[in-house]
Amino acid sequence: MEASRSTPTSFRWNEDEPDLVAGRQLRSLEELAGVPLSVLRSAGRPVKAERGQKAPKTRADALFEMGITDVLGLLTHYPRRYLDRTTELPISELKEGEDATVLATVRRVRRQPARRGAKPLVLVDVSDGRGYLALSFFNQPWRAQQLREGMEVAISGKVGVFRGRRQMANPSVDVVLGEWQGRVVPIYPQSEKAGISTMDIGACVAEALTWVGELEDPVPKEALDAHHFAGRDWSIKQVHQPESVGAANAARRRLGFDELLRLQLVLVLRKRALERASVGIAHRVGSPLVLKFRESLPFPLTGAQERAIKQIEADLARKVPMHRLLQGDVGSGKTLVALWCLLTAVAGGYQGALMAPTEVLAEQHSLSLANLLPGLAVVDAGALFGERQVRTELLTNRTPAAERARLLSGLADGGVDIVVGTHALLTESVRFAQLGVVVVDEQHRFGVEQRAALREKGDGPVPDVLVMTATPIPRTAAMTVYGDLDTTILDELPPGRTPVETHWARGPLEVEDAWQRVREEVAAGRQAYVVCPLVEESEKVQAASATEELARLAAGPLRGLRLGLLHGQLGSREKEGAMAAFRAGREQVLVATTVIEVGVDVPNATVMVIEDAGRFGIAQLHQLRGRVGRGADRSFCYLLGEAPTAEGAQRLSALERSNDGFELAEVDLDLRGEGTILGTRQKGVNDLKLASLRRHRKYVLLAREVAFQIVDADPGLARHQALARELRSLVDDEDREYLFKN
Ligand code: ADP
Ligand code: MG
Repeated sequence: MEASRSTPTSFRWNEDEPDLVAGRQLRSLEELAGVPLSVLRSAGRPVKAERGQKAPKTRADALFEMGITDVLGLLTHYPRRYLDRTTELPISELKEGEDATVLATVRRVRRQPARRGAKPLVLVDVSDGRGYLALSFFNQPWRAQQLREGMEVAISGKVGVFRGRRQMANPSVDVVLGEWQGRVVPIYPQSEKAGISTMDIGACVAEALTWVGELEDPVPKEALDAHHFAGRDWSIKQVHQPESVGAANAARRRLGFDELLRLQLVLVLRKRALERASVGIAHRVGSPLVLKFRESLPFPLTGAQERAIKQIEADLARKVPMHRLLQGDVGSGKTLVALWCLLTAVAGGYQGALMAPTEVLAEQHSLSLANLLPGLAVVDAGALFGERQVRTELLTNRTPAAERARLLSGLADGGVDIVVGTHALLTESVRFAQLGVVVVDEQHRFGVEQRAALREKGDGPVPDVLVMTATPIPRTAAMTVYGDLDTTILDELPPGRTPVETHWARGPLEVEDAWQRVREEVAAGRQAYVVCPLVEESEKVQAASATEELARLAAGPLRGLRLGLLHGQLGSREKEGAMAAFRAGREQVLVATTVIEVGVDVPNATVMVIEDAGRFGIAQLHQLRGRVGRGADRSFCYLLGEAPTAEGAQRLSALERSNDGFELAEVDLDLRGEGTILGTRQKGVNDLKLASLRRHRKYVLLAREVAFQIVDADPGLARHQALARELRSLVDDEDREYLFKN
């Protein structure tokens, strides 16, 4: 055609070549990932020698020590803050109580002679030529080495006034070597050890920006415009060399959004690819077996359960495999919904599997299933009356070999309908005749791979998967860790539950109140739990300490009461015996380890005392506390002991304040940060440098929404090649095949 012949030959749209727009080459981020810092002349310059340092090293060496190895790493080493010289106040005008950053020169450094037992103190005076500021550093003796007279530093902190002098306690200090350029100065995260200054880093970044030229922007323009995001090229430049603080913020907003969008795009692509690629089972819902199960329940379903079941049944009935997360507060009745799912499979001649993270939990699930299931039969042409009892089995690593062999053959020939187990279910030798539904009870312990492994257990069509969490997890975290799943929320507790009054018993008097309450409740015919301190992860050690604690209580605060003992080292017979005795009221107080976390359900129990509560996490305490408040009586939970840290104190106060698991999950995220909550299971989370699941909840939602828009309009990203290239560099080879083929 005429038009194509007149196209300049350099103007190629081959997906393997960088885009050329009007002859300009636009660089992509993934292309910068492999470019060594040695392309930058400034990186080869030596760092300003620190005192006592012998062979001066290059800036590239220092950056390498900080983990920055290529140009992309350098450009995404974002400033920690900015010093806005346009609004900078002289020290003499700083007001008490305000947060300020000032540029000043070190005038004097003194080390307070350390008295025995006192924390080391370093006192530093700095001046901006017009006023003095006194800095005090507690417990940071190295400051005396770091700061020397005549050094230029940027100081940030809260202004205090003491005896008419302005001062800051433990401010953050950035050593500034060299001349300021520009009016808004970026301050980079530095590393004391690497010995490179923020100015040195800035110089390398400046050269890198020039070297790079113009960056392409792979995110569709409509999406950016709709939400007022700046362009990527502008943002990368402004984040490092902003014309104003406002511009720096706009740049960070865009680049942070990019981080979240990349993460969500991968998740959404995975979700859609899974739906496209695999053939599932169109289960028959509402079969007689399931209806009979409903009728056998001693209570009506809650509205939330009805809604959840409706949603799940719609999934089950489709030929596309279900991949859904069931969230609900402690006691909201998730187990019942899970069982409903499993029974739907069984009714159609398929098998169900329920996988729990620990043996104890698996055993307890198996018990609750047994309680909920009595008398249910499945059609079986081979059986005497054309039907037989639903057969459930338990498989853990403790299952004896002979029983295990019997069970495995039952799974392989379809004789076992529902199997409950630990990750023992994932082993090679476990094969199913026709696995139809998998329920995974997670406690942040399984990963995407394990879910996939279980899904692939059947030889035929892919089973439907329902994932449940023991306690709620924050919405933004759910969207990230479980971003490839749909979500159902049980937002209602069964009627008749009473909120648990929670008290943090800090001192001996309050602890005495707790034991007093136990004695009173028992005297009134009710029952109590005592949860023993979390000693170690080892169940053996925990069991021993629970036994000791029982003896101590029997001789002390709970003398004369009938005490039972429950821990994970008991055999299942003994465990059932202990539970039965407590349930029947023969024991008044159950002294237990955290094995009572799940499944234990005695409405007459109205008090729980948790010893050394500061050592448990929020979710676990909330889960434990969920064992009381199950009847109509007023219920209490006492959290004993000092909090080991300030954060621990906030955890315990949060539990005193709130009974809502969803709210507590958000508090937990705020306190612990995303790293600890998500762990290492979600790769992209480590790439979040500007964005935070905690501080940018709104943007997580937005990124997810935009990701769906992009992927649903262009499933293989065929029309978004630049974006696809960028994402490809984030995922491993296998995913690359899977996610981007069309
Ligand atoms: P979760 O696993 O969500 O913490 P469970 O599934 O263990 O909660 O249910 C807690 C208790 O509530 C169990 O004793 C269960 O039998 C009971 N339960 C479940 N659904 C209902 C309901 N609709 N009405 C009354 N009790 C219910
Ligand atoms: Mg449960």
